[in-house]
Amino acid sequence: MNRRTFLKVVGSAALLPVLPHNLLADTTIRRVRPTDPGWPSADAWKRLNEAVGGNLVPIEFPLSIAKNDPDSAAAKQLWKDLKNPYFIGDNPGLTESLGWVDAWATQPSVYAVAARNAQDIAAAVNFARSNNLRLVVKGGGHSYQGTSNAPDSLLIWTRHMHDIEMHDAFVPQGCEHTMQPQPAVTFGAGTIGMQAYTAVTTKGGKYVQGGGCTTVGLAGLISGGGFGSFSKHYGTAAASLLEAEVVTADGQVRIANACTNPDLFWALKGGGGGSFGVMSKLTVRLHDLPEFFGNAMFSVKASSDDAYKRLVREFVSFYREHLFNDHWGEQAHIRPDNVLEIQMLAHGLDAEQTKKVWQPFLDWVAQPSSECSVKGVAAFGAVPARHYWDPQWWTEHWPEAAFPRNSTWHNLLDDALVHLISQPTLEFDPRSGASPYNAWWKGTTGEAAMFWWGYESLWLPDSLLEPDAQQRLADALFAASRHFDVGLHCNKGLGGAPAEAIAASKDTATNPSVLNAFALAIVADGQQPVYPGIPGHEPSVADGKQAAERIDRCVDELRKVAPNGGAYVSESNYFEKGFQQAYWGDNYARLLAIKRKYDQDGLFIVHNGVGSEGWSRDGFTKA
Ligand SMILES: Cc1cc2nc3c(=O)[nH]c(=O)nc-3n(C[C@H](O)[C@H](O)[C@H](O)COP(=O)(O)OP(=O)(O)OC[C@H]3O[C@@H](n4cnc5c(N)ncnc54)[C@H](O)[C@@H]3O)c2cc1C
Repeated sequence: MNRRTFLKVVGSAALLPVLPHNLLADTTIRRVRPTDPGWPSADAWKRLNEAVGGNLVPIEFPLSIAKNDPDSAAAKQLWKDLKNPYFIGDNPGLTESLGWVDAWATQPSVYAVAARNAQDIAAAVNFARSNNLRLVVKGGGHSYQGTSNAPDSLLIWTRHMHDIEMHDAFVPQGCEHTMQPQPAVTFGAGTIGMQAYTAVTTKGGKYVQGGGCTTVGLAGLISGGGFGSFSKHYGTAAASLLEAEVVTADGQVRIANACTNPDLFWALKGGGGGSFGVMSKLTVRLHDLPEFFGNAMFSVKASSDDAYKRLVREFVSFYREHLFNDHWGEQAHIRPDNVLEIQMLAHGLDAEQTKKVWQPFLDWVAQPSSECSVKGVAAFGAVPARHYWDPQWWTEHWPEAAFPRNSTWHNLLDDALVHLISQPTLEFDPRSGASPYNAWWKGTTGEAAMFWWGYESLWLPDSLLEPDAQQRLADALFAASRHFDVGLHCNKGLGGAPAEAIAASKDTATNPSVLNAFALAIVADGQQPVYPGIPGHEPSVADGKQAAERIDRCVDELRKVAPNGGAYVSESNYFEKGFQQAYWGDNYARLLAIKRKYDQDGLFIVHNGVGSEGWSRDGFTKA
């Protein structure tokens, strides 16, 4: 429906009574769709529009143009725009992932409340509850499982709520006698990673635990637990939450922190997005920055399967000895082509220290008996931590042309590395008028507008690093790699983290498996940009199903050594079996009790979320 049709409908239809639904008394719940007689009248929508200051917007589906007029210039431009995560995020009718084979395909809500504050959110919540509507909440729009979109629904869209306020000495409300003041930052619920890093790190010289991807929304990230490249040092993003302002299903604007509504507060920390209420503001702890963030990037190719087995075994033992600590995060990939690919980042190490750590491993590879060799160059570097998320710094200092040969930074680096990293690292929002801070890591461009074939994750316990278990782990990694590329995300397991980070993360709803996992294994694949029903851009369903089976077989090899590992709710399988145990372990019963206390009628239902049992996959019906 376009804006003109919307206004016409709003102006002409008769006013229908808005009756509260006593859903508690019903055993069956069925949300209404626009075709149902119970759908709110035009006048009712008009009143909602007035209540939210004219910010009720009808949503058009941007992909319609590609379906209806595929050869048009507009359709061609759309496919280009879909490579820009900021374009996607700015559009209430889109999501970062476009779908998942046999699971979901993104579809817009009928209307969105483009909320500006908690009162707008409360108006939308009350309207949805009173009118028995399917309600969805979207911040950064990065849900892999499609939990921030639903057709025939009302959307609460927080994109424009990105005010940021720094505090030198924050005390959560009601905690005046129990907590010391501490540095903190308050974000509007729609704030995304890059906005947070710009304010806190680039401008403020401090650290905040956001995600690795610069366009992930902070509210969704924290709701899921949340990991950034350096969370092995700082703990999960949820662990840093000090307070949230949240609108619950009854329309109340509540404060949740360790002293006020502590049960709700705990559930918001890792209990899954869109399940307990709508956060309007989040206040999180600030941390100190180190001087440098180091990096190590290289690939080692083994000449045979046997040589690869030895390489993986050596890496496991090297990891235990040298990398199993709070410096090292990000990824090592065990690939099917007998290549070990290292893409790791180091908290608090400069370029020389970074290289020194890896030297024993490089020496092992260099021995002829290893039958392995480094492909190209092994790159070790460092970036001043304060400039890590500073697009201007990368633009001015990093490309070799603009990089003074005799500068301090250059002297810390290998020539070969300087050449390698002279390639652009960040991509920029090309739209005219876009903020110069609208940047994202080039590596994540491949995820924009993705249609997933399969995605699974599994926490690998650090007991597998014990000397007598290392061979079993190496064998499992090798066996898994015969099916698919295994990504070991070392920053997404807290084994080896400082005690303080582990204690803070323990006081969240995330599966306790995270606390002693040395890494989260992620295996995933998909296709971009495609969408069902668009000629020339149809998802390859058969390929997708085959890939999903191979991903399953791959992770099954890892499950043999980590049978109760659990999966990370925000990065996991849409078809996760026993999701309650996998995502939350023994925390699930407590989460379900909190869900029933604050949202007994299931106003906030997301796929595989807490309390979603019994609901249809589309979230409209509870049997
Ligand atoms: C490209 C990409 C990179 C990623 N990188 C990382 C990473 O580095 N580390 C990591 O830990 N995860 C990562 N993720 C996963 C990501 O953290 C989760 O998908 C997260 O939930 C996204 O939040 P969002 O606000 O962007 O998404 P949305 O889709 O808007 O929201 C996600 C969920 O949270 C709910 N939600 C959103 N806002 C609110 C609110 N204000 N109140 C209550 N519920 C809300 C939504 O209803 C939805 O269920 C990545 C995902 C993608 C697609």
